[in-house]
Amino acid sequence: DKGQHEKKLIEKRLADIGQIILVMANKGGVGKSTVSANVAAGLAGRGYKVGVADADIHGPNQSRFFGFVGQRVRLGKNGLPPKDFEFFGLEHPVKVGSLAFMMERDDTPIVWRDAYKHDFMHHLIGSFDWGPLDFLVIDMPPGTGNELITLADMLEGHDVAALLATTPQEVALMDSLKAVRFCQERGLPLIGVVENMAGVTCPNCSEQFHVFPRAHLAEALAAAEVESVAQIPLSLALSSGSDTGVPVILSAPEGPEAQAFASAVAAC
Ligand code: ADP
Repeated sequence: DKGQHEKKLIEKRLADIGQIILVMANKGGVGKSTVSANVAAGLAGRGYKVGVADADIHGPNQSRFFGFVGQRVRLGKNGLPPKDFEFFGLEHPVKVGSLAFMMERDDTPIVWRDAYKHDFMHHLIGSFDWGPLDFLVIDMPPGTGNELITLADMLEGHDVAALLATTPQEVALMDSLKAVRFCQERGLPLIGVVENMAGVTCPNCSEQFHVFPRAHLAEALAAAEVESVAQIPLSLALSSGSDTGVPVILSAPEGPEAQAFASAVAAC
């Protein structure tokens, strides 16, 4: 039956995938997609075979980060072909799979009930022809809701770890701690937390200052026994980089943003 067939297909895809990294944030807009794209591109830069699955149903932005805006994919013999992101120096292309490739128009809003979202999560892993991968980076929808539970169930028994994105601001942090608790309760290994927008450098005098108060961050993470694996500055290269279609870790590898992302990559 359909359920069994789907399950087999997912198992077949997963059998070819080494480690799965769930990039999570409990709140929208903290830079989860930016972190996903740069960590994936950074791993590819180290010679690994990497895929990016865009599971952020309501904001599928990976097509933008990797320069595939407006592009579509058609069902082939082996499922949906992910888009190959090629860049100078990459041994293997980054394989990008996104809901955006399956929509009629870029501005179509997604209004789905939970059952449909559940199906989508299965499609994302099962229908895309990922091929052999060392890493599949999944850009999760914000929160610890239905999608996360579906995926965590689906991936049980596989090599899965979570990477959390947060801003240093206290409300975002409190939310992130919920995600930490989810991982701990599910026995999902946590790679650590990427602090995004963790400071800004003045373009005139090069002085560093913090836009978000960092007051309780280190303390709270230590209490939750979670490591901060990277501090990404708030930067123009990152806000504009999302529109150029090349993750900054590849386009400006010497810059402070790329250096900061590299420590998150190393933690994976
Ligand atoms: P999320 O996936 O958590 O919703 P995004 O990664 O899409 O967040 O980031 C939200 C917006 O903020 C995007 O336009 C992105 O380019 C921008 N952004 C993210 N991180 C930074 C940063 N460190 N500096 C500047 N802009 C950033």
